[in-house]
Amino acid sequence: MPGFGIIKGLKETARNFFGSYHDPGRFVTIQYPEEKREHHENYRSFPFLVYDGDPVKGLRCVSCKICEKECPPQCIYIVPEQDGSGKLLKFPRIFDIDVSVCMGCQICVEVCPFDSIKMDQEFEVSTADRFGGLILNRSKLAKSNEYYHQIRPAEATAVDAQLAAERERQQAKAAAAKSPAPAAAATREKKP
Ligand code: SF4
Ligand code: SF4
Repeated sequence: MPGFGIIKGLKETARNFFGSYHDPGRFVTIQYPEEKREHHENYRSFPFLVYDGDPVKGLRCVSCKICEKECPPQCIYIVPEQDGSGKLLKFPRIFDIDVSVCMGCQICVEVCPFDSIKMDQEFEVSTADRFGGLILNRSKLAKSNEYYHQIRPAEATAVDAQLAAERERQQAKAAAAKSPAPAAAATREKKP
């Protein structure tokens, strides 16, 4: 029938128009900031540093600086801790990220060999301080593994399992290095 397509289209438009007033599934506008959307697990904003237990001593970061080198806009700044003799320690004395420059690309997360840096979901970081207000330092970046589980449960669980397996491998390796190899021990026993 001529004109049927137009009527069908108008019906669909009317359904969407009125539906947007009473069907919660069709509401596209929310009353932010009073109302906030639930984020999908994969949603990301800026990076944060994961710690286990203690916010300072428990930081997983070993200050290898790989993320600093790989960050495309160069917004990570790391200075490793040193002992009294000037030897570099596996701990960042300074770890800053300028989130006004960070583009949330997640490259730092992908290159970190220690699962120390992950993407946060916190996006309300605006500040009136134009000079350094958006440079997040080590203490602002440090967040617990429990927090990581809260925002990314599946990913954090997989990382925990991977780290536990790695610890076991290292322990087994250390134990094997301490105990003499069976063949070597047998040879020693045979000697007069
Ligand atoms: S998310 Fe990307 S831009 Fe931001 S700190 Fe990491 S590597 Fe740099
Ligand atoms: S966050 Fe990871 S890659 Fe960056 S310095 Fe620390 S251990 Fe190295």
